[in-house]
Amino acid sequence: MNAAAPAIAVRDLSKNFGRFQAVKGISFDVAPGEIVGFLGPNGAGKTTTIKMITGLLKITSGTVLVDGLDRREQPAQVKRKLGYMSQKFSLYPLLTALENIEFFGGISGLAPRELKAAMARMGEQVDAAVLGQKIHDVPPGIRQKVALFVCLLPGPEIILLDEPTSGVDPEARRLFWSEIYRLKTQGKTLLVSTHNLDEAEYCDRIIIIHNGEIVAAGAPDELLRRKQKASIEELFKDAISEHGQD
Ligand code: ADP
Ligand code: MG
Repeated sequence: MNAAAPAIAVRDLSKNFGRFQAVKGISFDVAPGEIVGFLGPNGAGKTTTIKMITGLLKITSGTVLVDGLDRREQPAQVKRKLGYMSQKFSLYPLLTALENIEFFGGISGLAPRELKAAMARMGEQVDAAVLGQKIHDVPPGIRQKVALFVCLLPGPEIILLDEPTSGVDPEARRLFWSEIYRLKTQGKTLLVSTHNLDEAEYCDRIIIIHNGEIVAAGAPDELLRRKQKASIEELFKDAISEHGQD
């Protein structure tokens, strides 16, 4: 990782779908080793932004640099640095957890020995009976755990997780966040989107997006102090009323 460069630098990034502007010229950085929460209600523009960072969606205007590399000029190098877990179901529902790992590990170029080691690692974390069930039938918390495991198989440095905790129960959510911390201790950089404002507390820094615009950004405690608010909920409500509802 290039120590001088932000892990992700987004500048004046916009996305138009026809005449509708879903992302309106936003700028932010994610520093190496940080956990950044990308917070906002449904429809705010989180997925659109994340997909422009990964290259799954064409940028209308603005730039995305990943570890100093321009996403549009060096797409292959950028892709190798990024791990991405989509909001939509990213695993094959009719394959078992282990079959999913085998499949995705195979297409991400893992050698058979590495693949075997990865499957054994998963076996230490999740009960064998569960790993042998079709993903469709396993509890959402385990599904998310397997989806994250799959996204980590190629060993990315910078990890984009789009609403990884939506639809999972509070206990699974807490376990998921402890896994995110573990990744941070390994030096990974994480951008994690959520529509749950109460997940702000888990993040080093948060970026709040609403109607395609950033309405607040900073360390959660520091933001609350600076804006003199008691909760992120309150901060969000006031920030969007200041910004207008356009
Ligand atoms: P979030 O992930 O924060 O819920 P999205 O990025 O999915 O929000 O969507 C932002 C806005 O862009 C929403 O109003 C959504 O309806 C719109 N949008 C997303 N994808 C498309 C698309 N392919 N065509 C048209 N509008 C879209
Ligand atoms: Mg989304």
